[in-house]
Amino acid sequence: KTKIGILGLQGAVREHLQSVIASGAEGVVIKQKEQLDEIDGLILPGGESTTMRRLIDKYDFFDALVAFGKKGKPIFGTCAGLILLAKNIVGSDSAHLQLMDIKVERNAFGRQIASFEADLNVKDVGEGFNAVFIRAPYVVEASDDVDVLATYNGKIVAARQNHYLCSAFHPELTDDHRMASYFVKMVEESKSALATQ
Ligand code: GLN
Repeated sequence: KTKIGILGLQGAVREHLQSVIASGAEGVVIKQKEQLDEIDGLILPGGESTTMRRLIDKYDFFDALVAFGKKGKPIFGTCAGLILLAKNIVGSDSAHLQLMDIKVERNAFGRQIASFEADLNVKDVGEGFNAVFIRAPYVVEASDDVDVLATYNGKIVAARQNHYLCSAFHPELTDDHRMASYFVKMVEESKSALATQ
């Protein structure tokens, strides 16, 4: 069975675990970097990206996470997780894992509308996806090989680049598991591709 880990240092971990299981994969909460060897794909949950980064450093996860992505293993970053994946962050000279060729702006929808919901059409995932945004970032720039999957008011809020997937919203907070299912499928495909290498 395909095994998907959720980085369990901070943030919305339980909810992702449930949607992975609901999508037919095995889910495991990752608390130590050694556990990365046992999984086929990884979810970086929403939460607070600077706090998450602090814990990544504290528990010596940084290099292992980068290596996981560079091996070709799929990673899905949601909200703060999207920020962790981005190559550039608006207003900051340093970024985090820098695995996706995107530039993101944090808290980009403004403080007065800290959280909201919207129905989105997500390419290859489905229509009318109920997306929950919580102090969400959005993608301000993406390289040509980034596939934009969803926009909201003209802003990129979901995208894919090869084996990397990201969403500015929290797909795990409702019982619509289509985004998780899409990621599970990505992981299954990469698992069979990596196995024949
Ligand atoms: N605003 C948070 C950050 O900058 C992200 C919010 C979220 O993950 N819901 O890290």
